[in-house]
Amino acid sequence: MNAAVEKFGRIVDRQLEQRPKLARGLLTTAYRLNGWAGRHVFKKTTPARLELASVCNDVIIRPFVHPQQSVMVSLFTPCELLQTFGMAPMFPEALSAYLSGAGAERGFIDAVEKRGIPETFCSYHKILLGAAETGVLPKPRFIFNTTFVCDANTLSFRRLAKFYGVPHFVLDVPNGQDEAAVTYVAEQLRDCGAKMSSLLGKPLDETALRQAVQRSGQTLAAYQAYLKVRAQKSMPDEMTSEMYAVFALHVLLGSPEALRFAQGILQGAEDAPARGKEVRLLWVHTLPHLDTAMIDLLDFNPQCQILANDVCFDAPAVTDFSDPWRAMARRLVENNLNGPAQRRIDAVLTKAKELHPDGVVWFCHWGCHHTGGAAQLARAQLEAAGFPTLVLDGDGCDRSNCPPGQMTTRMQAFLELLEGKHDSVHL
Ligand code: SF4
Repeated sequence: MNAAVEKFGRIVDRQLEQRPKLARGLLTTAYRLNGWAGRHVFKKTTPARLELASVCNDVIIRPFVHPQQSVMVSLFTPCELLQTFGMAPMFPEALSAYLSGAGAERGFIDAVEKRGIPETFCSYHKILLGAAETGVLPKPRFIFNTTFVCDANTLSFRRLAKFYGVPHFVLDVPNGQDEAAVTYVAEQLRDCGAKMSSLLGKPLDETALRQAVQRSGQTLAAYQAYLKVRAQKSMPDEMTSEMYAVFALHVLLGSPEALRFAQGILQGAEDAPARGKEVRLLWVHTLPHLDTAMIDLLDFNPQCQILANDVCFDAPAVTDFSDPWRAMARRLVENNLNGPAQRRIDAVLTKAKELHPDGVVWFCHWGCHHTGGAAQLARAQLEAAGFPTLVLDGDGCDRSNCPPGQMTTRMQAFLELLEGKHDSVHL
């Protein structure tokens, strides 16, 4: 970690017990500066990705300064409903990654482990719980999460709803992909919409909702088109860009900003030079984008590029928007990550056959049972199909779970192996 960030994190840590509001103020100021620097100083990535980074930064600040306009959600929660009510989402992966980016994760993790949360729990959720229970993250208007994919959700959101004393909406998503499951989820969404409307004292604008859901479809379609073009282009970038894309393709779906992002990177890919001899990776799950050694290895490296991340092509192509409730429900039910792990593996394999990466990295984030549990099965199947696969254990936000150099050593060895294969293929 860079020395200034480390020092800042320690300053925030020292405020947690006695002065959580001061810690909140320090973090908010740091994120404002980060937003300014992103727009004016660190302009290495493409314009579409820069604009998205700025949007994401604003989304992170909002729950700290306008908590009553903010809703705590899980990553897969359809947020078009919130947009129609003028509410902003906040979700564990992003919030925790930002707190960790400020060097401040340790204090939050220690705080909740002392309150009985096991060390083995997902670190994104530990940081979120710590931020809430130390008083740094103020009370949101309500909580809205799915039961989908992530088992940590069920514990954290129920605990936080009780801790804050706020209304809690839960979307139960069945494992199966049939029409009955779509109907079941669509009915719950309607019910949530009606209850949110009465809670907020605002009528639900179905026309605005339909337009937002339609924009979601256009955004996902543009992103898929981008991936097709990207497969033939050289576009070195940073790991954080993939994390911002996860933002746009989930909780920001339906917003004009997310659509602009997807159309912008498609244009960027069309304008990019043709692919060269670089090693190309397909990434699965979250990324260790705060690990300094991994940053040195992967960020803006023309010789090694990440083509795509499976959490950015997880949603099905929904084309019927006549009933926005069913369209949102279908996106959840038919998501690649819903149901048995084999569905996710099949989706990664299909995308690998389209994008032709040199290798696949299956990143097992600390405490994530869904990803870790499928890792060896995935590796066996991907390798049988001709895609060398690295199962990489690490942590996307808790540096203490990433001993310096350990992840990088394995990653370097994997890249060397791919370079050998690559040279023989591209000679
Ligand atoms: S990393 Fe896994 S356990 Fe953690 S929030 Fe994401 S899906 Fe849930």
